[in-house]
Amino acid sequence: MSTLFHKIIRREIPADIVFEDEHLIAFRDIAPQAPVHVLFVPKDTFATLNDVPADRPEVIGRLAVAAANYAKAQGFDEDGYRIVMNCNGDGGQTVFQVHLHLLAGAPLGRFGTPA
Ligand code: 5GP
Repeated sequence: MSTLFHKIIRREIPADIVFEDEHLIAFRDIAPQAPVHVLFVPKDTFATLNDVPADRPEVIGRLAVAAANYAKAQGFDEDGYRIVMNCNGDGGQTVFQVHLHLLAGAPLGRFGTPA
């Protein structure tokens, strides 16, 4: 599979990368929905959260821990933040490589209401 996130991982298209290790990459969202909006993407390929096997929970855990570490490093961990994973159509997923959104930098509105 080759989504635009795979192309960012392979440096085929540019992105504002804020963190990378052997397991994942994190870069700023091109259309930020909050003052801080960073996407955390595993390097292993899974189209949606549904596709992450039950014996690979670390794929998602690493994304969440990397987001928390980024919040701590940037100093907004105590003010707070939100992490979100959209899945398939009703969840609003548009890029089919699993990823976690980190939103921060201002009080965030409530969520979960139908569009
Ligand atoms: P989803 O809607 O799948 O949960 O999230 C996909 C996210 O990718 C969206 O928030 C969208 O703004 C972001 N995005 C789409 N194209 C690009 C791009 O070319 N570069 C970056 N950095 N983000 C993108």
